[in-house]
Amino acid sequence: MNESIAISASNLTKKFDDFTAVNDVSFKIFEGEIVGILGPNGAGKTTTLRLLTGVYKLEEGEKIEIFNENLKDNQINCKIKFGIVPEISNAYSDFTVLENLEFSGKMYGLSKEEIKNRSKILLERFELLDKLNAKTKTLSKGLKQRANLCLALLHEPPILILDEPTSGLDPISVKIMRKQILEFRKAGKTILITTHDIKEAQTICDRILIMNKGKIIADANPDTLRRDFKSISTIIFKTEKELDSKLMNYPTLIKRSDGTFAISSENVLKDLSELYNSFTLKNQIQISDVKIQETSLEEVFIDLIKNDSTKKKGVKND
Ligand code: ATP
Repeated sequence: MNESIAISASNLTKKFDDFTAVNDVSFKIFEGEIVGILGPNGAGKTTTLRLLTGVYKLEEGEKIEIFNENLKDNQINCKIKFGIVPEISNAYSDFTVLENLEFSGKMYGLSKEEIKNRSKILLERFELLDKLNAKTKTLSKGLKQRANLCLALLHEPPILILDEPTSGLDPISVKIMRKQILEFRKAGKTILITTHDIKEAQTICDRILIMNKGKIIADANPDTLRRDFKSISTIIFKTEKELDSKLMNYPTLIKRSDGTFAISSENVLKDLSELYNSFTLKNQIQISDVKIQETSLEEVFIDLIKNDSTKKKGVKND
């Protein structure tokens, strides 16, 4: 991955009357990255994408640069760099799949030959060739979303922006969409994706921006996020006999309903060694069946949203 900046967004803010949907958000996305914006309903993900893609006008003090070009000054040059799959499809429902591709291709100034050749390749890749002449409104949700991605890719943009692209799709469509998103990335392109799906973010994203109440509250790769939260890793173990009150007061110790014990740990090796010293060496209580439960990204996400401070973790951009 090189370090040239595909998208630079500074101080994005969007108000709807008195309500602030996006609150002074800044981030950078490097060329070749897949970045996920992850957040609960109403966090401001779609509004952020709409600001980025020029749907909402930028106010004084807000700035977006696409490959170093200012969006305000170079709307067309910047917008042509995006392939966009919006939350609500922008395909014409009464047009066939091919007619939509032809229409979109003409809007981007492609020749008839280019439209024909690229459409064929895309429809093959997305397993849609047999739907070429089907009206878009007759397609299932999954097929429609695959057609939307074909439309977004037709003008061969360097940046793909996807608003919850796999939400509500069947597993086959999800698989095809993810495969094609990863292919696009393999070709060195940049992807910004919003999702509710933590597993999706974990599987395909290089970096995750967690958004809540209009703010980015974490900016890190999935592993960094997990490492930052190692304090909530858990050591689970059994003991050969009951613990007296002194050991029951061991820091962070919890007796679980299945009779096993758990302690929270920031440093698993150090804490295991201390456990062994306190329990086995000093008090002759053997511990067994030790398991380490790693913090999942889901726990990190829930923890961040629950304790929503505006402090960023693992920030790459600052
Ligand atoms: P979801 O995951 O549910 O799509 P989101 O993170 O994409 O949510 P947004 O759609 O950006 O969230 O909405 C952020 C907040 O702004 C929400 O409270 C929403 O109700 C509000 N909002 C969005 N668009 C408008 C609008 N046009 N008028 C008024 N409020 C709006």
